[in-house]
This record gives sequence, C-alpha cells and structure tokens, in this order.
Amino acid sequence: MSKLTGNIATCLCGSVKIRVTEINPKYTVCHCSSCRKWGGGPLFMVQCGTDVEFEGDDVIKEFDSSAWASRGFCSNCGTHLFSRFKKNGSYNMPVGLFPNTKNLEMSMQYFIDLKPSYYCFANDTPEMTEAEIYTHFASEV
Ligand SMILES: [Zn+2]
Ligand SMILES: [Zn+2]
Repeated sequence: MSKLTGNIATCLCGSVKIRVTEINPKYTVCHCSSCRKWGGGPLFMVQCGTDVEFEGDDVIKEFDSSAWASRGFCSNCGTHLFSRFKKNGSYNMPVGLFPNTKNLEMSMQYFIDLKPSYYCFANDTPEMTEAEIYTHFASEV
C-alpha cells in the first residue's frame, strides 16, 4: 500500500470532511446487487485502512448493511462515504470522493457472476464469483 498524505474527501454539501492517511491506488469494483442498489451502478472502492479522521460526525449516518460491514453516508446530501468492516474497523471508500489520487488502477472485480448484462468494462482484471468470494473470505468473517 502506498503512503500518501493529505488525502481529503468531502461530501457534496461539504458537511463531512474525511482525512485519510493511506489509500491503496489498486481499487476494486463490486457488481453485487447491494452495491448497485446503493450507488445506482457498480461500486468503485479504494482501501483506506483504519487511519481515517472525520469532521461532521453529527451528520454521518451509518447502517448495518451486512454481517461483516456497515455503510455510511451524509444525512444532509446523501453522498456515500464508506463501507467499514466490523472485524478490523478498516474503511473502503468510493474512489470518486478523492479527486487527486494518482495512479489509480482497477485491480479486481467482485461478484462478476452477479453483473447485469447491460454494461461491461474493458479493463483486464482478475474477477471473483459469489462462490469464490464466500470461500475466500469465509475464514475472515
Ligand atoms: Zn453532505
Ligand atoms: Zn458489493
């Protein structure tokens, strides 16, 4: 993971400011139905670790989205802010929140078997199916 300093993200209305120490430029795409429902399309997420500071905690709403993670958003403007793993508290954040991140590279497509047929990416990446993901992460939940 590359160390970058001063990665600042804000929501659309500006009520929430996020400061992240580490961003992994190898971002992932998730095609699962929850992510597509949440964002209206496949979700592009960067790993941000646990060294994350928030301003505007009072407007951040967080809900339990699965057995292993919660999702957070700005209750003022609805901007999606993060997914947080319950096990280790690490954050994944939508890549679009960070306009100045360099060297971004699509590195994985999750739930490729749940991807609808009305879009596809030309990026050549590894892919995991639902069955492969549950097998792979079963030990970590
Ligand atoms: Zn907002
Ligand atoms: Zn997903």
